[in-house]
Amino acid sequence: RPLSENDIVEDHQITVCVRKRPLNKKEINRKEVDVISVPSKDQIVVHEPKNKVDLTKYLDNQHFRFDYAFNDHCSNELVYKYSAKPLVQTIFEGGMATCFAYGQTGSGKTHTMGGDFHGKTQDCKKGIYAMAAKDVFKLLRSPKYKSLNLAVSASFFEIYSGKVFDLLADKAKLRVLEDGKQQVQVVGLTETIVENVEDVFKIIQRGNTARTSGQTSANSNSSRSHAVFQIILHNPLANKVHGKFSLIDLAGNERGADTQSSNRQTRMEGAEINKSLLALKECIRALGRKGSHLPFRASKLTQVLRDSFIGDKSKTCMIAMISPGMSSCEHSLNTLRYADRVKEL
Ligand code: ADP
Ligand code: MG
Repeated sequence: RPLSENDIVEDHQITVCVRKRPLNKKEINRKEVDVISVPSKDQIVVHEPKNKVDLTKYLDNQHFRFDYAFNDHCSNELVYKYSAKPLVQTIFEGGMATCFAYGQTGSGKTHTMGGDFHGKTQDCKKGIYAMAAKDVFKLLRSPKYKSLNLAVSASFFEIYSGKVFDLLADKAKLRVLEDGKQQVQVVGLTETIVENVEDVFKIIQRGNTARTSGQTSANSNSSRSHAVFQIILHNPLANKVHGKFSLIDLAGNERGADTQSSNRQTRMEGAEINKSLLALKECIRALGRKGSHLPFRASKLTQVLRDSFIGDKSKTCMIAMISPGMSSCEHSLNTLRYADRVKEL
């Protein structure tokens, strides 16, 4: 039975789920075979066609189990309900929350997180960034949290080749500093006060536009960069951060393999992506195992997210995206193995 709206939302410190996107028109036209099935609400099976030594063909069926498995009929709303939505509460309780979209370029990370493009305009309201923002304002005004008198702000930046760029300030390059108390700061990052969801929609739209400006979709920088959208709750009386939700659209994981490229720039970027995705996995695992080493300095991504990987109240969610086609089989298996290890004890 597939996951449905009536299934209970479990409470995990680390949630790992997988989303399979549908075959697109192009793939259907070139008769691409769908090799991924989602037999139940927490299982994924990859049917990898293989040849034996004597050349007889067989299917190598590889089974994976996660907290949730979303099939190609699942909407962004349903994915949100079981992934990022439970973490909104976390930041009101004074914790840090992170939600990562991981996967190969074209697997649906941006569709899930940032919403979709329709012609030239983008409807960010259908993405997880926007749905999380909506729920933040809902809880802010709820009887339970109203009396905290929290203020909300948002920021949006990109990490490209180990450097941080402000998506709300013409991609200004920013420095990352670590003070003596191991607090990490992105110096000069735009943090805009938001009064309502409409304000947040504008910010998401602006950041999304900045991220994709000046590039063609086929070979875009966005596949080589991590985008980090943050919603921050402030306690104005105590003058401190109450909680923070970071939502991250990661670089395409296949780019991490670009370390053999003949182009020096591409090779360096590939090495950086590889490093950051490995460090990320270790940092999430450290969150689940108290007292274990947190290798946050291994990459810019984990460095700027350092405070999200500490504390009993911190929670994280990884949504691993997979393309269903046979030609993506190898990448899909890599994605599933990575997601598997994130939660392995
Ligand atoms: P990524 O950000 O991982 O590179 P995108 O989010 O840009 O991938 O998705 C690639 C294309 O597939 C886009 O045109 C997007 O609209 C479409 N797509 C992705 N996921 C889905 C889905 N679940 N349902 C329908 N279309 C999708
Ligand atoms: Mg994308």
